Parts: sequence; C-alpha cells; structure tokens
Amino acid sequence: SQPVHIVGAGLAGSEAAWQVANSGIRVVLHEMRPHRMTEAHRTEGCAELVCSNSFRSDDAANNAVGLLHAEMRRLGSLVMRAADGNQVPAGGALAVDRDGFSAAVTKALNEHPLIEISREEVAGLPPADWSNVIVATGPLTSAPLADAIRQLTDESALAFFDAIAPIVHRDSIDMSVAWFQSRYDKVGPGGTGADYINCPMTKDQYDAFVAALLDGEKVDFKDWETNTPYFDGCLPVEVMAERGHETLRHGPMKPVGLTNPHNPTVKPYAIVQLRQDNKLGTLYNIVGFQTKLKHGAQQRVFRTIPGLEKAEFARLGGLHRNTFLNSPKLLDAQLRLRAQRRLRFAGQMTGCEGYVESASVGLIAGLCAAADARGLSLTPPPPTTALGALLGHITGGHIETIEAGPRSFQPMNVNFGLFPPLTNPPTKKPDGSRLRGNEKTVAKKQAMSSRALADLDHWIADHLRVAAAA
Ligand code: FAD
Repeated sequence: SQPVHIVGAGLAGSEAAWQVANSGIRVVLHEMRPHRMTEAHRTEGCAELVCSNSFRSDDAANNAVGLLHAEMRRLGSLVMRAADGNQVPAGGALAVDRDGFSAAVTKALNEHPLIEISREEVAGLPPADWSNVIVATGPLTSAPLADAIRQLTDESALAFFDAIAPIVHRDSIDMSVAWFQSRYDKVGPGGTGADYINCPMTKDQYDAFVAALLDGEKVDFKDWETNTPYFDGCLPVEVMAERGHETLRHGPMKPVGLTNPHNPTVKPYAIVQLRQDNKLGTLYNIVGFQTKLKHGAQQRVFRTIPGLEKAEFARLGGLHRNTFLNSPKLLDAQLRLRAQRRLRFAGQMTGCEGYVESASVGLIAGLCAAADARGLSLTPPPPTTALGALLGHITGGHIETIEAGPRSFQPMNVNFGLFPPLTNPPTKKPDGSRLRGNEKTVAKKQAMSSRALADLDHWIADHLRVAAAA
C-alpha cells in the first residue's frame, strides 16, 4: 500500500512519523537539512530545538502545557519519551539536553522498520501521486513550498511578521474598574453593542504609561527578520508611543464613543480596549497592543492599566517572522486542506505555538493519517482535553469578531482559556470550607486537568483501540 509522506522532520513531523509507523503504516519522512538549512536550525538532527531547551511546566495538574505532556505520554509520544530520557534539572519545568534529545528522536526514527528518511527539499507542492501527505515544515518553511501553498490557498501572504497583542484571561480582569461596551454602542455581525472590555485612564496614568512603554526593554530583531514585511503595516505599541506623546490617544487608546458606567460624569483621558479572542469568551486580546517589549516589561507595564492590575496573560505579545495558515478557514477538523484533502498540515504551520504544541499537533495528524490509510476516519479528541482544546483553536474555535479582519487568527500556546468551562466549578475545599481568591483558580485548573485526563482515557478506549483493531 501507499506510504504516508511526511514533509519536515521537526517537532511535528518526527512525532507524526512515529505515530503513523506505530500504527503499522509505512512512512517516508522528507527533510531538507543538511542540504538546505533554515535561518534558525544548526544541525541535521530530527526535532532540533532552535532556541530554548525548555518544554515548559511539567505540572499536569496545574498547567495546560504540563497536561499536554501527560496526554502525549499516554499516547506513546516519541517526543515526550526522548524529552524524559534527556532531562536536565530545571525546577518544575521539563528542560532537555538539546543534542541528546534530538539524537534520541533521530535514532528511534532511523531504527523504525516502517520509516524511511529521505534527505531532500520538497520544493513545491508534494507530487500528485502522494495521496496521503502531512506537511510539517514549520515556521521557517522553505520558500518554494511556501509559495506553492500560498497559490493553492489563495492567501495573500504566508510568511510575515506576526503582530501579536497580549491575550488576557477574562476572569483576571477587574470588572469593578473596567466595563463592557462597543464604541458608540455599535452592533456588528454577531455582536451585542457591548463586545469590548474597556479600561479607563486619567491623564496622569496615561503619561506614566507612555513613559513606561518608551523605557521598557525591547527585543532585538534577528538579522534574518529584517527582510520580511510587517503584516498589515501593524506597528508595535511602543513604536506608536515613540512617534508622539498623543499618538496612542488618537489611535488604539482613543477615549471617544464610550462612557464609563462606574464614573459616568468623568471622561477618561484614554481608554484601552480588549476584544474577545475565543468563542468561549474566556480570553481577550488588548486591541492594538502588538509589541516588541520583553516579556517581563510587558507584564509590568500592562498591569499598570486600570482593571488589569491582576491580569493573567494567556500569551504575551510579540513580533517575529512566522509561516502559518489561516487554519480555521483553510483546514477541516482532520487538519486536511479543504482545497486538496490529500494534504494534511501539522505543527506550527497550523497555528499552534511552541515545541510541545507543535509535536502534539503532529501526533494527532499522524493518527489521522494512519486512520485514512486504512480507510477509516478518526474522531478527534474531545475539546475538554488539552489536545482537543488546541485542535479546536486551530480548526475552528476562533471567532472572527467585529473589526477583527481576515487574519485575526494567531498562533497560540495551549492554555486553560481554550478549554470549555467546567459545568460545576469547585467552590469548596475537601474540608468543606469555601475556596477564596487564587485558591478558586487553582482548584478550577486542577478540575479541568482531571476532566481532561479522564476524557482522554475514554477517547483512547473508544476510538484508538477500535482503529487499531480494524
Ligand atoms: P520545525 O521544528 O521547524 O520543523 C520543520 C522542519 O521542516 C525543519 O526540520 C525544516 O528543516 C524542514 N523543512 C522546511 N521546509 C522544508 C521543505 N520544503 N522540504 C523538506 N523539509 C523542510 N518554541 C518554543 O517552544 N520555545 C522556543 O524557544 C522557540 N523558539 C523559537 C525560535 C525561532 C527563531 C522560531 C522560528 C520558532 C521558535 N519556537 C519556539 C516556535 C516553534 O515551537 C518551533 O519553531 C517548533 O520547532 C515548531 O515545530 P514544527 O515541527 O512545526 O517546525
């Protein structure tokens, strides 16, 4: 029978190859390195970590990425096995010896009897006779392939600077200070006239905020990032602040068309708006606040915004070159390109972000491709699992809100804001006393995590065992 062709032996492609081969299906894994390198890769190893050596928190009960680790281990992930086997001390985080990690992945793939590694660039659309393909070429996809995909999907751009504004957990916003209202109470498609969260500023607060933006530490661009255009001419918030003290007040922070119900007689000097970011309404992004400030500076400066003093960030802002698809529009629930279903996508190209997330989407893509190879269709993991929540973000969980524009979809790390809320959130401790403040948040995460692992086990029993038996 036809093998599954996987393009790119990075985090996603390596994991996908492992899953397909372990399902008993042949794989040809195409990797362009070392003949052609990317701007960030240094070696020819599979699953090379291009920057940090951390897989972030390993705490499955309290952290969404820790939960994703746990789910991937339950699914026999090669990336997690290699990470666990090459761990270096890093507190509660899972950090790895990068060379040992990559060597372990490469060796396992090389030694698998059903995997053939072909060292070549796929310089254009995969050949038409490859009927079951996973494209996992990552944020630095080589230009000929990126161009071919761009033509096929009719998107104007595929590689550009992501302008990413920070995203905040809705339940960490102080609504005794902030309020819901759309500018001029405008009701857009699907809107209510109260779609934005607004945070008011006095003149003193605005002056201090602009000064803090100008002082904040910025990330430098890498040389290879200098030739890539800005997406939609989006300017970082601190660059707007540099252009003039009042620029922000006439731009994203303009105080017009809004009335503060907590203090209706005093007109705010400036207003920061947050826009709903996911269908569930658990996440809000700060409108117009794409930024090159370092993460520490972002948290410090953005928490001076009234109402955001205790903001928990689901992701911080940033600008960097990236190649990713507008997946909610272009991919089906099985990660296949609607325009050509033999092509399935995985990894950061699909709009997840991070090593672990990329590998996890590779894992699911591998299982889906293996099911396809057998003439079956895999039911995706439930949205209550970390895998399912991330998949939901990629294949349709995102909303196109008013003014959001066609490319509002942004790559994201896994986080609890992507999970459906609990039906009965915990209110009491085991001893019967009431949960207070932060205890509630902790208990909620732990309950979501238990729900996820239980649901994943059911899914494995109901769907994977069936597929394996077929
Ligand atoms: P990759 O791991 O990049 O794998 C893609 C593979 O495809 C590569 O091996 C590449 O050589 C190959 N390839 C590309 N085009 C072709 C082609 N046409 N034919 C054949 N092969 C091809 N995430 C983190 O969690 N922590 C970080 O510190 C971090 N730092 C990053 C720094 C940079 C500069 C970038 C760009 C991204 C970073 N990321 C980080 C984000 C992301 O998680 C990683 O890029 C991750 O490796 C993505 O996994 P992937 O499998 O999608 O792509």
